[in-house]
Amino acid sequence: MTKQLKNYINGEWTDSSQTDDRNEVLNPATQEVIAYAPRTTKEETEEAIRVARETYESGVWSDLTVHERAAYLDRIADQIDEHFEELVDLEVANNGKIKAEAEFDIGDAAECFRYYSGLIRTVQGETYEVPEPMQAMVVREPVGVAGLIVPWNLPMLMAVWKLAPALAAGNTVVLKPAELTPVTTTRLFELIDEVGVPKGVANLVHGRGSVVGQTLAESDDVDVVSFTGSTDVGKGIMKAATGNLKKVSLELGGKSPNIIFADAKFDVAVDMALFGIFFGAGQVCSAGSRILVEEPIYDRFVEAFSKRASEIRVGPGNDPNSQFGAMTSEKQMNRVLEYIEIGKKEGATLVTGGQRLTENGLDRGFFIEPTVFVDVDNDMRIVQEEIFGPVVTIQPFNGEKEAIELANSTDYGLAGAVFSQDPAKALRVIKKVRSGITWVNTYHPTYNEAPWGGYKQSGIGRSLGTYGLDDFQEVKQININLEVEPTGWFD
Ligand code: NAD
Repeated sequence: MTKQLKNYINGEWTDSSQTDDRNEVLNPATQEVIAYAPRTTKEETEEAIRVARETYESGVWSDLTVHERAAYLDRIADQIDEHFEELVDLEVANNGKIKAEAEFDIGDAAECFRYYSGLIRTVQGETYEVPEPMQAMVVREPVGVAGLIVPWNLPMLMAVWKLAPALAAGNTVVLKPAELTPVTTTRLFELIDEVGVPKGVANLVHGRGSVVGQTLAESDDVDVVSFTGSTDVGKGIMKAATGNLKKVSLELGGKSPNIIFADAKFDVAVDMALFGIFFGAGQVCSAGSRILVEEPIYDRFVEAFSKRASEIRVGPGNDPNSQFGAMTSEKQMNRVLEYIEIGKKEGATLVTGGQRLTENGLDRGFFIEPTVFVDVDNDMRIVQEEIFGPVVTIQPFNGEKEAIELANSTDYGLAGAVFSQDPAKALRVIKKVRSGITWVNTYHPTYNEAPWGGYKQSGIGRSLGTYGLDDFQEVKQININLEVEPTGWFD
């Protein structure tokens, strides 16, 4: 039965008043409607923010000891584990990704709650040795009300990367999932409700970015907005946030270079480059969408990579045979197909792929072949702009200097990798790559302990690790006079 999703505000499941304008949530592998979600109004969003504000001020969450808050986070993690299979299936049905990818997301989501449960127990302030009779210290406090805005490519994991540190630090939150993929996040809030997190602490509001998201970014009652999504929308969020100068954290797009030197282990480099771009059907912010290959192995690499790309089995996420799944929406599929046409018009050579897949029932969903372009100029749009799909360009380079120049030649700076068996060269080059997330001789592994975020137009701030907690904390210095005497300054 098609599910009617609801908002979760002040511990109650409520619908929007706009019942005649619901969002149809599709399974992108079949176009079947799997749920309806509210299109919440600005006024209703403001009400959710008011609840979060009042709840924050009440101290019902921020005044708990860190041990008490951490225990809630542990219970949420346990609930995710208990409902693992259900959440995986929901993510596959709503996002279109294959099961193995969804298993990674859901498993990591539980671990992220555990990581912040552990971290918040250890985060301490500082003390400073200052001239007597003063004692100086620094304490950490929650920021207040956090507005959390999430994209559709990793629906539950991106929500958790924000929720876990925000809640651990003692903030109250209003979270807006992407309109395309609200299903797992709604289930997560049911689990949050079941563990008894005090009402009003965690609020969920469905709806349009231009209404709900914009209201969160603009509101004077929101103290920090944490956004993951496209660079264009991120710029708008930053502008909207100036009203009350709220803290802003932006995790944005990428066009990440994957640099392969001639002395790399060839088969490993081919294998990892495939994983780098086609994991998640290329709908991954850190995708290795620009492969740079050193001249001596360029032709051999293009041949081996393209052959393996053409053999990838694309299909529904719930088919164990599929190696990557559907584009998450028709709009995204059309955008990717449009970029493929742009690439051809720009004069790039299409080596493999380039088509929507329609055989064997795939016409019901939004599937695109793994697509490889060569003979590209560095200023072509398919080299410079984020496509966010299974499309990769391969460019040759000569030596370290040119590799670094090409790697850093876009507006983005999210991720990047180097493949070489010379560790000194690999380190020299990766240190010059202006990106926040980098790898040597591998692609994509991420850890809850390590900061995630971009240089340049890939964002501001960092998710995860201690850095991810910083977004949701204020730091305060307290200076204590140990000899309470007049200064005598104006005597
Ligand atoms: P998007 O920018 O279209 O939307 C992201 C979220 O913002 C959605 O919830 C959307 O409803 C909301 N939104 C849209 N307009 C808004 C507005 N005017 N005000 C406030 N909120 C608004 O991005 P998307 O298409 O959902 O996601 C894909 C993008 O996300 C890609 O660019 C990808 O690189 C990026 N991404 C980045 C990271 C990272 O960690 N850097 C991770 C995942 C995705």
